[in-house]
Amino acid sequence: ARRKLIAGNWKMNKTIPEGLALVRELKGLVASLPGDRVELAVAPPFLSLQAVAKELEGSAVKLAAQNCHWEASGAYTGEVSAQMLKDVGCAYVIVGHSERRQYFGETDETVNKRTRAVVGAGMSPIICVGETLAEREANRTLEVVERQVAGALKGFQAAEVAGFVLAYEPVWAIGTGRTATSAQAQEVHRALREQLVRLYDRGTADRVLIQYGGSVKPDNAAELLGQPDVDGALVGGASLKAGDFAAIAKGG
Ligand code: 13P
Repeated sequence: ARRKLIAGNWKMNKTIPEGLALVRELKGLVASLPGDRVELAVAPPFLSLQAVAKELEGSAVKLAAQNCHWEASGAYTGEVSAQMLKDVGCAYVIVGHSERRQYFGETDETVNKRTRAVVGAGMSPIICVGETLAEREANRTLEVVERQVAGALKGFQAAEVAGFVLAYEPVWAIGTGRTATSAQAQEVHRALREQLVRLYDRGTADRVLIQYGGSVKPDNAAELLGQPDVDGALVGGASLKAGDFAAIAKGG
């Protein structure tokens, strides 16, 4: 069976001292989790990555970044390269989050370029896809997420994709307290898995982790994580409290 990956996307929250306090508390709460079945990761803002990495030394909790640029280096003021993130200890990089698509001009093409950079630096991408409420109501959910996945994966070989993480995050469920039902999540996760079979093969599709994200809380995590194609959670708001994040991880 696939392991579960529970990742906390802190977004633009927590100063360095606040972030350190959070991971210190979290380490204690999750020390007893079976690491072969449940993997944990935190994605602090860039500025805190180095300090959090040091605090996580010797712990099973992995480090993730929230974005990266696609170029290796150069005159790109304000940007951070994949190699810089690898160097500071990141195992994962979130790419294509809906907030980046919505506010920062992210497209399927730039998601693909960032994914290439993440893989090139020896990390795993967490590729976010998800439909808006208008798209769901127009029955376009699967068309939208499949287009996003196809765009992100363009040019990648099966051997590379097997180490990828997809995160299905319906835009209408992010930060709204309105989660997808477990049946709605499972339907999309299953469709994405079948898309991976068509694009690659069954063995590859079975290895890709597909996380759900959007108002995951301690009281709905177990139900979502109990679905056969839901391989973890990408947690926003609830990852800012160590107790809630640990409870979600234990629910899986
Ligand atoms: P919330 O858990 O706050 O809804 O955010 C989900 C998310 O966007 C994770 O990337």
